[in-house]
Amino acid sequence: MKILANNSSKLFQRAQKVMPGGVSSPVRAFRAVGGEPIFIDKAQGSRLFDVDGKEYIDFVGSWGPMILGHAHPEVLRLIHEAVDKGTSFGAPNQYELQLAEMVTSLVPSVDVVRFVNSGTEATMSAVRLARAVTSRDLVVKFDGCYHGHADFFLVAAGSGAMTLGQPDSLGVPNQIASLTASLPYNDIEHVTTFFQERGNEIAAVIVEPVAGNMGVVLPKQDFLAKLRELTSKYGALLIFDEVITGFRLSLGGAQQLFDIKPDITTLGKIIGGGLPVGAYGGTAEIMNMLAPNGPVYQAGTLSGNPIAMAAGYKTIHILQQDEGVYERLDYMGSYLEKGLQDAAKDAGVGVTINRAGSMLTIFFSSYPVSNYQDAKRSDTTMFAKFHSNMLAQGIYLPPSQFEAWFLSTAHTREDLDRTIEAAYTALKKI
Ligand code: PMP
Repeated sequence: MKILANNSSKLFQRAQKVMPGGVSSPVRAFRAVGGEPIFIDKAQGSRLFDVDGKEYIDFVGSWGPMILGHAHPEVLRLIHEAVDKGTSFGAPNQYELQLAEMVTSLVPSVDVVRFVNSGTEATMSAVRLARAVTSRDLVVKFDGCYHGHADFFLVAAGSGAMTLGQPDSLGVPNQIASLTASLPYNDIEHVTTFFQERGNEIAAVIVEPVAGNMGVVLPKQDFLAKLRELTSKYGALLIFDEVITGFRLSLGGAQQLFDIKPDITTLGKIIGGGLPVGAYGGTAEIMNMLAPNGPVYQAGTLSGNPIAMAAGYKTIHILQQDEGVYERLDYMGSYLEKGLQDAAKDAGVGVTINRAGSMLTIFFSSYPVSNYQDAKRSDTTMFAKFHSNMLAQGIYLPPSQFEAWFLSTAHTREDLDRTIEAAYTALKKI
C-alpha cells in the first residue's frame, strides 16, 4: 500500500462516523490524553508501525498478550499451520486439548479448564459458577479492579471505566449492581468487617492478585493470604482474576508467586497469544458443575477455536522452553523502572513507579499508590502531556494513567535506553 502522510488522521475521521468514538474499545480513542489514536499497519517484535510509516517502541503489547513481542515467527508458523486446516469446526480439536493439558499442568489451582473468547466471558462465567456452587448471590470485588464489562462488574471499575470517569455504567440495573460490593484494595480490616456483617451471603471474592487496571498496584503483605482465610472460613469462593498476571508473572501466574490457591482462576490475554481467548478453571469438583456435566450453563460458538488455541499453545510453549525467561523479564522491568526513576529525579518531577516483573506504571504522584484512592491522586494532566511527548518521540504507551506498561522478550536494552532518554526529555518539558 502506498504510504501517504496523515493517513491515520483521515482513517480516524472515517472511523468516527461508523464506530462510537472511532474505536472498538474505549481507551483506544485517546480521550484521556488528547490527540488522536494512531492506526497501526503492522507490528514486529517490540515495534509498531503506523499507516504513515512511523515506527514506535510498543509498551502496550495489545494490553498484555504480546509477551513474546509481535509476530513471533514460531507463533505465526503454528497459526499458519492451523489456518491451513480450516478456521473453525465447532467441534473438539487437538490444539484445544494441548492447551488445556498445558494450562492445567502449569497453573497450580487449575485441574480442569473451560475455554471462552475473552476475559470478560471468563470472569462472568466464573461468578455464575461460584454462585451455583455456594447458592449465594453477593459478589465482592475491589475498587479500581477491572474484571471485564459484565453488568455486575461495572461497580467502581478500573481500566477504561476509571480513565473515562465512569466507574459505574448506565444500563446496569440497580438490582444487579446491588449484588456487588466493592471494597478498597489492600484494606483487609475493611474486608474482615464486611465478612463479619455479610459473610454468609457472599458467593465469591474476586481480585486481581496484582492489580493492573488502576495502574499497577501490588498486594500488601498478607492481603491475598487473608482473603484466602476469610473466604474459606465463611464458605465463599476466592476467584483470582489472572487475565493479566497469568503467564505474565510466572508460568503459574500470581498464585504460584504468592503460593496461594484460589478456588477459581480466570485467564485471558497471553493464553490466546494475541488471538481472542479467555479461560476459567479450578478443581474437577467445581468445574464439573458446568454443562454438560452439571447444571451451570455456559457455551460458545467459537470457544476453543483452533487458530486461537494454536497461538496460545505456542506462546506458552516458548515461555516454557526459555529457561530464566521470567527472571530476564523482571530484570528488564527493574532496569526500566530505575531508568525512569532517575529520569524523573533529574527532571525534578515527583513520580511513583509501581512494578511487578514485566508490568509497571509511572504514577504522576509523589505518594505511594496502594489502592484506587491513591491512584486517583495522580496528576492526569501531566500524564497526558508526558504521553503526547513520548508518542512524538516514537514511544507508544498506554493512553491512560490507570493502565500497565507491558514489556516483552522482544524488547532490547537499546529499546529501554531510548525509552528512558525520551522519558527524561518528556519529563523535563512538562
Ligand atoms: N480481567 C482483567 C484483570 C483484565 O485486565 C481484563 C481486560 N483488560 C479483563 C478481565 C477483561 O478481558 P477482556 O477485555 O478480554 O474481555
